[in-house]
Amino acid sequence: MLFRCSFLFVLLLVLCSWGEKAHQKINSSSVDFLPKELSQLKAWREVLKVHGSDADFRKKDDKTEFVKHFIDIDNYEDFRTKRSIELDFEKACQKYGRARVIKDGTLPWVTDSTYRKLVHDFKSGDWERAALTATDLGHYIGDGFMPLHISANYDGQLSGQTGIHRRYEETMIDRYIDQIQFKNSVCTKVDDVHSFIFSYLYANQSYLRILLQADASAYLKAGKQYNEVYYESLWNGTSSFTGKLLEESSRTLARLIYTAWLEAGKPKIPELNN
Ligand SMILES: [Zn+2]
Repeated sequence: MLFRCSFLFVLLLVLCSWGEKAHQKINSSSVDFLPKELSQLKAWREVLKVHGSDADFRKKDDKTEFVKHFIDIDNYEDFRTKRSIELDFEKACQKYGRARVIKDGTLPWVTDSTYRKLVHDFKSGDWERAALTATDLGHYIGDGFMPLHISANYDGQLSGQTGIHRRYEETMIDRYIDQIQFKNSVCTKVDDVHSFIFSYLYANQSYLRILLQADASAYLKAGKQYNEVYYESLWNGTSSFTGKLLEESSRTLARLIYTAWLEAGKPKIPELNN
């Protein structure tokens, strides 16, 4: 038990969703997707960037934070057989057992409740709080676009590829992040936020298999080492969808900020400081 606890603690510090640089890019670039009506919110760029990984840092002091960053969705038989699980949190707890639902990660429901908080902040006109809520929302969205956060095989430990989490999300991304360019276009409103969150999780989970394959073949190509050749090969095998995942998560944050603002009744946005 002691081993498991300390192991979990180390994992908790190591598996920080996307690395800091990726979260910063996802969050800060989201303002470029916002429609004209929200152009004043471009002032949020720096806050979104600087606090992009605060949700990960909270895990150290808040033990309830850990499970909010992932969902081991392939642990659910419903997902394995039907590619979908119970969407409603309370119904999911009734169907699968509350302890199990929490243990397997609450990412979709936390993303949804953070979105609701943003609607509330917009309604109450608390723009400073809204900026920080949007920052957390961007973080949880970002985690939902990271295939290893949507699987029980989150560190390749079930397929003999332990360590892939950090190799992919941090070491590789940090080397190549400047090559990832987003094509900006205006974002659109989301009709049903709750089911939209689940639908992108299901879609992003499908990249897991190709990511594991790319890791295995890069390792062989590099002579069973994690060297330059390995990272170059991993990037070549994953760059097409990795760039897309980062861009889509940035656009998704913009779409949910826009949708929250509409749902709040289009409150007038004051002049905001950078
Ligand atoms: Zn995270």
